[in-house]
Amino acid sequence: MAKIKSVLFDDMTFCYECGRPDAECHHIFFGSYAKTPCTKRKLYIPLCYVCHKGNNGPHMNREKDLEYKMMAQEYYEEHIGTREEFMDEFGKNYL
Ligand SMILES: [Zn+2]
Ligand SMILES: [Zn+2]
Repeated sequence: MAKIKSVLFDDMTFCYECGRPDAECHHIFFGSYAKTPCTKRKLYIPLCYVCHKGNNGPHMNREKDLEYKMMAQEYYEEHIGTREEFMDEFGKNYL
């Protein structure tokens, strides 16, 4: 895939779940409720097609979706801003 920069992963080539190459870019906060698009914060995660769009992927599996969102919020609070700012940008507290 083309060079997409994620703040969470240096290398977006390999699937986070299974390590397959040719990972797709999953936007962790793809919902429209987010005031700040996740393209601004670059909160992406690399996932192969199966781990991305399959039954256990974040688009089908709510628990997996939440797992990634919690991971991204933890990163945000460590490196970007406060919980209040996170909630202001993404509309919700996941932790
Ligand atoms: Zn995978
Ligand atoms: Zn996705």
